[in-house]
Amino acid sequence: MPISHPSPIAIVGAGLGGLTLARVLHTRGIAATIYEADASADARAQGGLLDIHEDGGQPGLRAAGLYERFLALVLPGEDAKRIVDSAGRILLDKPGQAGGRPEVRRGDLRRLLIESLPADAIAWGRKLVRAERGIDGRLCLAFADGTSVSPELLVGADGAWSRVRPLLSATTPAYIGTTFIEVRIDAASCTPDMVDLIGTGTLMAVAPEKALLMHRYADGDVHGYIALDKPPGCIAAEFDDWSPRLRALVTLADDARIVRPLHALPVDHRWDSMADVTLVGDAAHLMSPFAGEGANLAIQDGAELALAICGHPGDSAAAIRDYEAAMFPRAQAAARQTAGNHRRFFGPDAPHSVVQMFTGA
Ligand SMILES: Cc1cc2nc3c(=O)[nH]c(=O)nc-3n(C[C@H](O)[C@H](O)[C@H](O)COP(=O)(O)OP(=O)(O)OC[C@H]3O[C@@H](n4cnc5c(N)ncnc54)[C@H](O)[C@@H]3O)c2cc1C
Repeated sequence: MPISHPSPIAIVGAGLGGLTLARVLHTRGIAATIYEADASADARAQGGLLDIHEDGGQPGLRAAGLYERFLALVLPGEDAKRIVDSAGRILLDKPGQAGGRPEVRRGDLRRLLIESLPADAIAWGRKLVRAERGIDGRLCLAFADGTSVSPELLVGADGAWSRVRPLLSATTPAYIGTTFIEVRIDAASCTPDMVDLIGTGTLMAVAPEKALLMHRYADGDVHGYIALDKPPGCIAAEFDDWSPRLRALVTLADDARIVRPLHALPVDHRWDSMADVTLVGDAAHLMSPFAGEGANLAIQDGAELALAICGHPGDSAAAIRDYEAAMFPRAQAAARQTAGNHRRFFGPDAPHSVVQMFTGA
């Protein structure tokens, strides 16, 4: 069933990349429709913290006219980092800094972007099942609810398992050998010793093949990841020989654990440019979180693609070419750094290799 009067620009996915793209277009008077699988903005928990870089996400948020409102979401001082070994000995204590890479809750930033768009800009509950070309060459998007659209310009902002990507590339993400288990400890269950151990920001307890990455929020709740660079077996047993203070973080975490196997696209993933379809964010260049670049790149991609579209009215081929010419090398550099960080994080020299990463040594 075709949808009547849709916008000629279709964006699939209301993550940070798709939302920034739609917002920057909107501020320049160009309408786009976002098709999002989730039924509403609150359908899913949005994970933990993101640090938004001065040379990454921040310029994108400025282009979106949202920089001041973003600053109001920043959690002051929560970018502090503490690295300890498996015995709980502190190897690095980096206090929170003003400026640089401020931390925000992903959910807060996403909501800011959603609320900055007209209510009808996002079509919720529209899960794309297939993107294809008809025999006349026109694009056709088929959704799980039986509806369809034929946009003039299509942007895949639909994350790791993009349904738009196959129009451009046959490559799919591969498991990188590391699994994150997302955990929470509510404030009431945190002991004073635990509070003292984590400090005011993020605690990274690291050893070869495993880590605990825990953040304590100002409201006292702890949210983080148990990270295993090996096939996950009995999680508690993996930390048997760690200090009891660190083990308590594993045993006290609630049972609502979300298992997140990490995947990545190849570092040099790219495709031949097409005139009417492209990708932003994880759909284009999924990488592991070890350089904290993915969300920043998604915001930057969205903003730059929007500016390229505005700079080439009526010529989407030129806009896409300009956007991809800058995006491919940017993503490749970040993916290379991320892959290097991943090896250093869990390699035989951990945790000292992780300290070197954060001190630039
Ligand atoms: C554990 C972890 C920690 C991370 N930490 C950081 C960090 O500190 N800093 C950082 O910069 N990055 C971080 N990242 C990476 C970051 O989360 C991603 O790179 C970023 O969210 C990508 O944004 P996106 O808009 O491209 O995709 P997504 O955020 O994945 O959004 C995609 C959207 O598309 C929708 N969608 C998917 N399929 C369909 C479909 N078929 N039809 C319609 N809609 C669809 C989804 O529901 C979603 O809303 C982390 C990632 C992980 C896994």
